[in-house]
Amino acid sequence: MVDLDNTLADYTGALRHHLRSGHVYDPLDGYAMADPCEYGLWRDPSWPFASYEAYADAHRSAVMDGLYLAEHPYPHAMRALWRLVEDGHDLLIATSRTDDERFRQTFAWFDRHWFDPAHGPTEYDVAFHFGDKSLVDVDVAFEDDPCTIAALTDKGVTVIHPDHPYCRDSEGITMRDWRQAPGIIRQLQEDKESTR
Ligand SMILES: [Mg+2]
Repeated sequence: MVDLDNTLADYTGALRHHLRSGHVYDPLDGYAMADPCEYGLWRDPSWPFASYEAYADAHRSAVMDGLYLAEHPYPHAMRALWRLVEDGHDLLIATSRTDDERFRQTFAWFDRHWFDPAHGPTEYDVAFHFGDKSLVDVDVAFEDDPCTIAALTDKGVTVIHPDHPYCRDSEGITMRDWRQAPGIIRQLQEDKESTR
């Protein structure tokens, strides 16, 4: 199971770009909009949100402007996913996005970014789950939300998380670069087989 925002794709960077390019918040206003140390941008003083509601408003208007489609995949992420499919794994993309109308941006994003390293853009052979991730039965999850990481870990799921300050100390395995993903999965598989 693979989470999208801030795991596979750079949500924080896309929102920052949206706020700056909309000239809503000029850099001169003094908001650094740094990579947050806590999950939840409204808790971070370097972002211009006085409350959760202020953040949610900005998020909503950014999504209407195509935020989800505009997010950049993290370096090497799409190649790593391709590799996992090649290695015979079933991929489930799971997101708690509820505000992507008919999931149009999410699917368009995959149309744009899924590629075969040898032949370029191609059909993507992955499944999608929109909603509560704890309902899904998986062996391994890539996830950045500390609460979701804890819930999945409690269920016995092995969680691999990115190296963001707010989740790097969570349970599971820290991944600094998506290039590590196929190797980590292979190692987990070997460990599982050797304990049988
Ligand atoms: Mg996420």
